[in-house]
Amino acid sequence: MKVHEYQAKEILRSFGVTTPRGIACFSVDEAVKAAESLGGSVWVVKAQIHAGGRGKGGGVKVARSPAEVKDWAGRILGMQLVTHQTGPEGQKVRRLLVEEGADIRKELYLGLVVDRVTQQVCVMASSEGGMDIEEVAANTPDRIHKVYVDPDAGLSDTEADDLSRKIGIPDASVSQARTILQALYRAFWETDASLAEINPLVLTGDGRVIALDAKMNFDSNALYRHPDIVAMRDLDEEDPAEIEASKFDLSYISLDGNIGCLVNGAGLAMATMDTIKLYGGSPANFLDVGGGATAEKVTEAFKIMLRNPNLKAILVNIFGGIMKCDTIAEGVVAAARDVRLSVPLVVRMKGTNEDIGKRILADSGLPIITANNMAEAAERVVAATRG
Ligand code: GDP
Ligand code: MN
Repeated sequence: MKVHEYQAKEILRSFGVTTPRGIACFSVDEAVKAAESLGGSVWVVKAQIHAGGRGKGGGVKVARSPAEVKDWAGRILGMQLVTHQTGPEGQKVRRLLVEEGADIRKELYLGLVVDRVTQQVCVMASSEGGMDIEEVAANTPDRIHKVYVDPDAGLSDTEADDLSRKIGIPDASVSQARTILQALYRAFWETDASLAEINPLVLTGDGRVIALDAKMNFDSNALYRHPDIVAMRDLDEEDPAEIEASKFDLSYISLDGNIGCLVNGAGLAMATMDTIKLYGGSPANFLDVGGGATAEKVTEAFKIMLRNPNLKAILVNIFGGIMKCDTIAEGVVAAARDVRLSVPLVVRMKGTNEDIGKRILADSGLPIITANNMAEAAERVVAATRG
């Protein structure tokens, strides 16, 4: 699960990370009031969307008067912000963060991830903050310094200070950086985060160290332990098809192809997408209906797939083990009638009661294309998309 920058900063502050003072706003009026109550003479108006690269896309602006705050807030709120992470359609801005401006001397980078190979939290730090860290990793990997943290000990003073010196924090500011690094590590650990990133971490003109941007992602399998984080969820930032699918306990991920896939079992669903690719097609989604799919679940799955304007055909691929093929066939027929299926449907089913299932499909009178194996199914569904 992702949260907005202002929410990530709220969490990080509660662990002792220094950030600029700021106020989240939902309207231009609120933004102006926020600037006035923050005081000072420089503010930053920041679009809050679940994507990075907002600065380059025009979603982060410095204002030097409340009138400028008003102007920028009016322009940014409601805009369709396009960044390298949003895709060409962009993301609508519905929230802003108004912060006191910082006097930046140097922009640095901090990032924490779970390293699957060592099964440890990896703390990354770089002197090259502000810009795309992916570019630094590709062109100058020696400028990214890493520490793999011992989970029993946590991030030690020596490790933190070493990292700070490697990224050019001056001696007088090392203890501040240590506080931030250790607080960031504790925040990551205690919230079951999967990613925490401060880009940029800045060194100010007067030697202070501040988290100017913040990003946190959380492991959804651990969210039951964090109701306060779940409460930060912003459904406006999530894919509507995925939200709808989660209501019916369907594992659904939107993709950019045109062949809808309805499969039981995550492994079979992955193999189905690979086979479609092998035959030159492109899946519109990943969908695992699970082991105990009912006719209702199958119907909902069809409805969700059919809402996709790119959809050209559907492939149902079922292995009937615990789930019987006749049950699935009844579900598919009921769903196809219920949703008035408007695209070609290819069904491949194998396993328990396969013959009864195939008869139900044949007797339904619906224009269902059947296939005897996955290769045939993929070939037929790809052909169906080509008319
Ligand atoms: P991102 O582009 O989505 O990662 O958004 P950031 O929060 O990282 O902001 C992008 C850039 O805006 C930063 O790298 C800074 O250069 C600039 N910026 C953000 N806050 C301030 C500020 O308080 N003062 C100044 N001068 N620049 C800022
Ligand atoms: Mn940033």
